[in-house]
Amino acid sequence: MKIICVGRNYVEHIEELNNEKPKEPIIFFKPTVSLNKSTDFSLPEFSNDIHHEIEIIFEIGKEGKMIELKNSLSYISKIGLGVDFTARDIQKKNKKKGLPWSFAKCFDNSASISKLMNINKFKEINNINFSLLKNKVKVQEGNSKLMIFNIEYLIHYISQKITLEKGDIIFTGTPKGVGKISNQDILEGYINDEKILNISIN
Ligand code: ZN
Repeated sequence: MKIICVGRNYVEHIEELNNEKPKEPIIFFKPTVSLNKSTDFSLPEFSNDIHHEIEIIFEIGKEGKMIELKNSLSYISKIGLGVDFTARDIQKKNKKKGLPWSFAKCFDNSASISKLMNINKFKEINNINFSLLKNKVKVQEGNSKLMIFNIEYLIHYISQKITLEKGDIIFTGTPKGVGKISNQDILEGYINDEKILNISIN
């Protein structure tokens, strides 16, 4: 499987990091050792500025390439929340030099995910509320209707370039409110008011 991530998919998050609004989706990947289904996340030693990015995630249910927009949703089997942990200090340094983000995004457990739920549970894919609490304080809140490129388009777009396989996970981008995490923080993620994600930082 592969982990496919979308960058800069919410206007207010683009503004908080002073980035430009993209004309087509910004896609990057994470390796399988980044996948973390446990409720613990250990801070890597090479960064002093690890940020949380709460995101809606989708699991692909069947293989597809060159998927037509109208068929996109039939390729999704499950939905959940993920935290795209990001070493913001390394990302800033690399962006300045025009270098790849690799180790800003790719490290052990940097794609931490909640339990996944059947997609049929969600009637309106483009109207899903989600939020992240850090130590019981709400720090991020979003709705899938605010995505610049919606999920149907993302599946269509990505599958024009690379084959989607059963089990692939797509991170769909983070809303505003990203911030630093520290040892002993507790992160809790809610989707449509249901708590499905719980991560202790250590
Ligand atoms: Zn992200």
